Amino acid sequence: MATAVEISRQDMNTFLAAQGFQEINIPGTKERVYSKFVTKTVCLRVYTSIVGESSRDTGEDAIRTVLVTKVNDVVKIIGGDKRVHRVEGWRNNLQNRLDRWQEQLGPACPKCQSPTIRRRSRKGPFWGCCQYPNCNSVQPISEPTRQPPVVQSRQSQADEAWRDRMREKAAFATLERKQEAKAYFDEMRAELEANGIYDGDDEPLQKLALVGDRPPSEW
Ligand SMILES: [Zn+2]
Repeated sequence: MATAVEISRQDMNTFLAAQGFQEINIPGTKERVYSKFVTKTVCLRVYTSIVGESSRDTGEDAIRTVLVTKVNDVVKIIGGDKRVHRVEGWRNNLQNRLDRWQEQLGPACPKCQSPTIRRRSRKGPFWGCCQYPNCNSVQPISEPTRQPPVVQSRQSQADEAWRDRMREKAAFATLERKQEAKAYFDEMRAELEANGIYDGDDEPLQKLALVGDRPPSEW
């Protein structure tokens, strides 16, 4: 299990202030909360789990990111509440969460201009008005169209895989490797000659020697 790390008020403040967040006061909420506008009507909030100068106890220690909007002076949570655990690397994890609010927020509602958020039905995802059930306008989410897969024959797939492997190996073909390959080539030719099956065609041997049959990690 990952060990919880202490996050000081100062750590969090430095991290969030650099991204334009400001601490806000929410009556009745003990933990420190930061907020910034991401659109004209939507704020991204971070519930930091920090009370006073340091983190809360384990169990209440997750940091949460929440999208909120104000509707008739009432703050409404419209999405998010993704938890970021107070572990080593929390800055990266929190950053990822903060960077992903766009995925939740859709275009303005065409009926009432309120923010819309990502919802899911049996028919798939859609942008739903945050005023639901007062406004039940929905908009389809246009997913990027998938390209039909290129149909390849088994042979061409195998060829392509082989070429990829060769390219990968060629990238590792350092001078040292080439010298090693030369020695390998000489050795193979000597072996073919010794067995009386050397036909004078060096090219396949050179290729084989240069590429070898070992993964790059073993070179
Ligand atoms: Zn609406």
